[in-house]
This record gives sequence, C-alpha cells and structure tokens, in this order.
Amino acid sequence: MAAPRPAASFRGPSDPLVSVVLGLAVVASSVGGSLGGDSSAPFPWDRVRLPGHVVPLHYHLLIHPNLTTQTFSGTAAIDLTVTRQTSTVILHGKRLHVAWAAVGAQEARVLEHRALEQVALLATEPLRAGHNYTVTIQYAANLSDSFHGFYKSTYRTQEGELRVLAATQFEPTFARMAFPCFDEPAFKARFSVRIRREPKHLALSNMPLMKTVSINPWLVEDHFDTSVKMSTYLVAFIISDFKSISKISSHGVKISVYTVPEKIHQADYALDAAVKLLDFYEDYFSISYPLPKQDLAAIPDFQSGAMENWGLTTYRESALLYDPEKSSASSRLWITMIIAHELAHQWFGNLVTMEWWNDLWLNEGFAKFMEFVSVNVTHPELKVEDYFLTRCFDAMEVDALNSSHPVSTPVEDPAQILEMFDDVSYEKGSCILNMLRDYLTDDVFKAGLVQYLQKYSYQNTKNEDLWDSMTNICPTVGTDKSEHQSDGFCRRNQQSSSNAHWTKGATLDVREMMNTWTLQKGFPLVTVTVRGKNVHLQQEHYMKGAESHSSTGYSWHIPLTYITSKSDAVQRFLMTTKTDVIILPEEVEWIKFNVYSNGYYIVHYEDDGWDHLINLLKENHTAISNNDRASLINNIFQLVRIKKMPISKAFDLTLYLKRETQIMPVLQGMNELVPIYKLMEKRDMDDTEKQLKEYIVKLFKDLIDKQLWSDDGSVSERMLRQSLLLFACMRRYQPCVDKAEEYFVKWQKSNGTLSLPADVKTAVYAVGAQTSEGWDFLLSKYRLHSFSIDKSKIELALSLTRNKDKLQWLLDQGLRGDIIKTQDLPHIIVYVARNPSGYHLAWTFLKENWEKVVEKFELGSNSLAAIVTGVTNQYSTRPQLAQVKEFFGSLEEKSAQLRCIQQAIETIEDNIQWMDRNFEDIKTWLQKNHL
Ligand SMILES: [Zn+2]
Repeated sequence: MAAPRPAASFRGPSDPLVSVVLGLAVVASSVGGSLGGDSSAPFPWDRVRLPGHVVPLHYHLLIHPNLTTQTFSGTAAIDLTVTRQTSTVILHGKRLHVAWAAVGAQEARVLEHRALEQVALLATEPLRAGHNYTVTIQYAANLSDSFHGFYKSTYRTQEGELRVLAATQFEPTFARMAFPCFDEPAFKARFSVRIRREPKHLALSNMPLMKTVSINPWLVEDHFDTSVKMSTYLVAFIISDFKSISKISSHGVKISVYTVPEKIHQADYALDAAVKLLDFYEDYFSISYPLPKQDLAAIPDFQSGAMENWGLTTYRESALLYDPEKSSASSRLWITMIIAHELAHQWFGNLVTMEWWNDLWLNEGFAKFMEFVSVNVTHPELKVEDYFLTRCFDAMEVDALNSSHPVSTPVEDPAQILEMFDDVSYEKGSCILNMLRDYLTDDVFKAGLVQYLQKYSYQNTKNEDLWDSMTNICPTVGTDKSEHQSDGFCRRNQQSSSNAHWTKGATLDVREMMNTWTLQKGFPLVTVTVRGKNVHLQQEHYMKGAESHSSTGYSWHIPLTYITSKSDAVQRFLMTTKTDVIILPEEVEWIKFNVYSNGYYIVHYEDDGWDHLINLLKENHTAISNNDRASLINNIFQLVRIKKMPISKAFDLTLYLKRETQIMPVLQGMNELVPIYKLMEKRDMDDTEKQLKEYIVKLFKDLIDKQLWSDDGSVSERMLRQSLLLFACMRRYQPCVDKAEEYFVKWQKSNGTLSLPADVKTAVYAVGAQTSEGWDFLLSKYRLHSFSIDKSKIELALSLTRNKDKLQWLLDQGLRGDIIKTQDLPHIIVYVARNPSGYHLAWTFLKENWEKVVEKFELGSNSLAAIVTGVTNQYSTRPQLAQVKEFFGSLEEKSAQLRCIQQAIETIEDNIQWMDRNFEDIKTWLQKNHL
C-alpha cells in the first residue's frame, strides 16, 4: 500500500506515528449483517492467529454483487489439506451471513466469533491427517460503506448522474469481509474467481478473463483464469463501467489503465510510466513478471494512495490520473513514484511475502526504496534521488520519540497490524536499506536482492532470510570493489587511505549490523570531537524530550562516511563500538559526516566544529552537496531539541539561506523555521510571530522575486516554485499577492476558462480564496468535472480562508461525502487545524465525530493517525496538553491506547519544553539580526 498525500507539498504526510503495545483489541461488528452462526455452542478456538494444521490450497470463488441493493452473495469452495486430525475448520469471516456450509459432502455446523473475526465449521466426521478436503460456504453480506473489504464507490457523470461501482481493498485483514478465508499472509493459495454482473458492467480481477457465460438475459458470469499462489490480502475484484487503454510491454505483458469513462484521457501518462517501470523491474530482478497482464485502476473512493493487488493494482484517482496541461510537476513526481511503488510490490510483497505483519517493512521498506532505484533509471528528469533524504528526516521525527518502535515489531490483532503501516515501516525501512546499499555497494546489494527473490519466490520470509541472502554474496560484475574470499564471504579491498576502511578487515556481517537497525527503535547521534589529527567519535541513542537520551544502552553498527576541507573523496569507517577514534592524514578546518545524507543517523560537531561548518556555508556553501547542506540544517535543529545546541546557533546557520537556490536546502530551511511560527500562531505571541515570519520572507525574498509565473524549468525548479509562491502569498508578501490577485481576477473573469500555469495555481487559488466571493467562485469550479485534476489544490485553498463558517462547512461536507469525498476528510481536518482561525474548530470536530471517523477509516489506520497528530502537533501549552489527555483518556481502552495518541501527547510535551526554553532566545536573536 502507499500512503495518501496532502496537496500542499510533494512530501508525504510528515505527521509521525508511534507505538504502544495494544491489549487484545476487540472490533465489534456494528452495522451490516452478521454470521448466521449458532451462538449457544462455545467457539472451539480462542486465539487471534489461526491454527496451522488446516492449510488452504485453492479457493474457487463465485461473487455476485448487486449494485442497486448494495449487497452481495457468494460461494467459497476451498480445497485444503489437513496435517493433524481435526473435526473443526477455523477460518476468518467478518460481517458475513453464512447461509450454508459443508465439509466434503456433509453439511457442517457453523459457529461465529465476532471479536476474533472467525468462523468455525464443525464436521460430522473427523478430517484425517494427510488428506485433502473441500469446504464450501454460501454466504451474503452488504457492500461495505467504508474503504475496505468489498466496498461501494460512487461518482457523478458530467450530466450529474450518480453511478455506483464496487471495488476491494483487502490489505491487511479485510479479505475476510468479502469471503471466508484463511486471512493470514503465510496461507498462500491459488484463486479461481467467477463474478456475476449485469451485461452493462465490466468485471476485473487479478487474472485475465477466460470466458463469459450468460446466466439469464440480465446476468452474465465472468470466469477469470486461476491465479498463481498468493496471499489473501492480494486478491482483488472490481465491478464498474470503467474504460481502459492498453499497451504491450517489451516483455509481452498487457498493461492497461482503467478509469471512469470521462477521465480516460488522463490515463496516458500512467500507462507509459507503468510500461517502462514493469520492463525495468523484470530486467533488474532477472525474474519475469509471472502474470500475463497488469491492470492499474483509478477508484473514485480510496483511502490510502494505492494498493498492489497482484495483476490489478488500485489507486486513488489523484495518484494515477495526469493531465499534461493541468497537472503540476509535483503530481507528476508523485504519480510516477506511486506506480513504481506498487509495481515493485509485484516482486517484494507479492512474489516474496513477509511471514507475518511484524515484518511488514520487508514489503513496504523495499517498495519505498525501489521507487528511487527504478524511477532514477526510467525517469531521470525527475531527479528522484534528490528527495530521498526528506523521507529519512520524516522517519526520524517519529523515531526520536520514546513511543517509537523497532522496524520489526510483534503485532497480533487487526488494529495493531494496521498501525504497522507507518513511517517506521515505510520510510525508516527504506532509509536503512539505502544505507545498506551504500555500505555494500550497488552491485553486491542488487545481487543479494536477486538471490533473495529467487530463493523465496511464492514463499514467505522473515528479517533474517534477507540478511542471509545479503551475506554470502559477491557481485558478478564490478569485482574491483570487493572480492570473493575462500571462506565464502566478500571483503572489500582496503582502500588507499589508511583510514578509509569499512570493516577493519573483518567479514561483512550484514545480519549483525542490520539487527541493530531493525530490532532496536530509534537511531544514533554521533558526536564528533576533533583534536589535531584525531577525530574522536561517540554514539548514543537520540531521543527527544525527556532527559533520558543515552540511557537506553542501545548501540548501532554505523557505516560512517565523511569528507573534510582537505579532501572531498568520501572516506568510510564502520563504527561498531560506543566510542572510537579516526586518525586523519593531516589536520583539517572542517569535517562533514554522513556524506550525501545516506546514513540513518545525525551528527553533532563538538567545540568549534559547528562554527567551522556554519562559516563554510556562509563563505562557500557549494563546497558541499545540496543534500549535505540540507542535512546540516536538519541536524542542528535536532540538536537544539535535546539541548546540545542553542537555538541562536541554529538561527545563525540559517542566515546563509539568503544565497541558497537549491530545492532541498531551501525546503529544509522552511521545514525547520515554519513550524516555529506555527506554534506561536496558536498562542498569544503576535510580535515575535510577526518578526519571525518577516525574517523567513526576507531570507527567501531574492529567490521568490526570481520565480517565473509559468511552468518553465526542470521538475525541481517547478516544485520549488510551487512551494515558494504559496509560502510567499500566504505570508502576504505583497509582490506575490499582487501578482496572484491579478491572475485570479483574470481567471475569474474568464469564468475559469483561462488556463493558469499548473505550478502557480495553488498560490493563485489560495489568494483568491481569501475573499468570500473568491471562495464561493472556487467552490463552484470545484464541483465541475473540468476541474477534477485541480480538486486537491482547490481543497487546500478553500481551507486557508479565515472565515470560520466556511471552515466548518468544509469539515461537515468532508464527513458527509457528497460534494467533498470523505476520502479527503483527513487532509481537510489537518489543513483546518493548521489554520490559525481553524484549529479550535478542527479539535472540536474531531472530538464530536470521533466514532464516525473511526467507523469510516478504521482503528489503527494511517488516516486516523494523520488526523490525531495533524490536529494536535502544533499545540505547545499545558492547557492544550490537558485537553488532549482528557479527551483521549475518556475513550474506551482500544482507542485510548493507539500509538498515535501516545505520540500526540509526547509531541505536545516536547513542544511545551521547547517553547519554554527557546522562545526568549528567538525573540532576542530576531531583534539583533536584521536582514
Ligand atoms: Zn506499499
């Protein structure tokens, strides 16, 4: 799966999540049907995980949805094998009404356990070990009204007609809402799907259509080919009136993009990208894509960003549809990466699957990582490699909290499993893989991946299986970098400089090294002290807030890299102890660790180390790379958080930004400075808040003035333009506001027909929405088909009004789901919460509608976490903290223990301390430093 993205920036939602171990969550079925079970008999199983002695082999599914009554009926015939004699078959089912069931030829009694989401079939005769049986279950249910299971989606045609379709979202534990099944990733089986539909509709599933038979004049039955062996969460089917376009990849796979008929002209970009990317992966992994087709379908209602169902990937419309005239550069980047992500899953996740959800990162960390590897080759103009480091910064934001969790973490019930879909599994997972690639070299890393995928095809894996594949590997090409030793391990040649070694001659023990990154939460802070030619190193656990940092006793195997004022050749050193010393060949003026920000750690330079670097930025900032500059900006503000650096020093560093022109350091600078005035906006700190805003505008004024109001330039220039202009206009920088107003008036006079440059639209709409009349005009366009590509931009602009009634209207409509789709409600709530006029409204809305929001988005989901943290992470007062604790403390246990709530509380506590400590110093610094 891929997370949804707010319109405001190209970065993913940076609101982090944290962990808390949940008790056994009991998800009550509230609405809809229930199993027709016998409730008097005791249920013969009491665990969340299914017993292992009944194993499914092949599902034969017949699904018959009725889009008018919004119900469906089904028959599941499951071939299975029994490894231990038993009289019961336990499998998953949720909100299914079982009409009849049989084991073999004998009718079976059916029991239901709602809390465990399980069904038990009681056979009249025992099933014998070593034998195969077929169980058959006939059932019916409602199409789900949420975004998971077999759910209903709707859209309006240009003429205003409401059309209904039905689609599936099963990951992680929702296949059980569509058919009874062994709904755990290790129970892989084949699937033969048949779907009944009206002749006017079209049905899609994982495999190609084999034949269609007529049942009666109003009903036909599609038979899909039998799938490869796969997990239940990857099954998919869609019944709709979609249209498609297709191409054949150079490896002979038929690739198609499906959308609602009126948007099919926006499908070309995705189709071409998918063809290129699928070809790339087949070559890169040296493993053919095993299915004859790959469909990409844009679903009008979709909670996450996209889903990797094998052969039928599904997407939010904004994650797939692209209009070369109207779409912004950032949406091109996002669409390309999300397709790259889902197609990478066809190997990482689908072909080789994690044994259990505790190792979800094996799916998601890899898919995130592969986005960069593949798009870098297939779409070099996007320069994706530049954006990698922000993911690591986002991950560190969550991972620095006490309530974070190791990448590999035990989980059991559905809410805990859903909580694994967070920045730690996705972003941190991909960052530590990138660090490992940098450590092993590209060739060794790739050879290890290929070996892993080949060895475990159609199977399930654990963490250590990956490390073992990486250990005994030597690349077949590029052997100049490493060589095969007689003991079967690869060693890297000692590099020329005496201190350039990774390993001190030891073998590369990948498992030992990576265990320190996957089995411990958090990340290290490396403190560097230079004494002449000696560089003293010390590592400790970086933790926000509490005084507790360094108290955990954690230690990491850190592949350190550095450059110095004397040499820009990257030097390498594997640090495996708490302290160590590097001896340089000569004394240096400055040293910069974590070159290009490839490592998942932050660095503190003791004594005058930072002064030298700040000076370097001031005198000659291009001496180090864009990413190195961005990482210095990030690291110094992280050090302020744990009192290692005064805020004034961090502000001193930002002064160089006056001459910065590159997107990553500019956005990183904003990313550190903007949240500070956002905290002040929610308190009575008008003067300092105003001064800080003026400071930031002045810092970037030259760059803002230089921006063209057009779509010219490279993708990164265009994305920088979009961010800068929106920022400048929202800070009421007059030249920007004047220009945006001029555009808005012209656009309004043309009744919206004037074509605005795609990358300046956000700023123009945002300024237009500041008047009541402009806001109403934007809303009238939002409702039109011709503005479908601009919907997320308009939503953002509408949420920037200062008018409280309008903000409340947006929240209410988002929940209602008619004019504004409920899939966008999480973004709307967070936008309103960031608005100084809206943060009270957002909090009240969340409290009043908690139950409804949970019902819609599911307990433990990333959407719910994004709302909770997005609404509260700019609070920095004790009364605000008390309010938040009081509300979440009043909820029932399974809600109150969500890790996003722990994280929200920790973040507010940290903000309080931060403001207490730094506010006066910022005030003083701003008074002294005029640009
Ligand atoms: Zn994914």
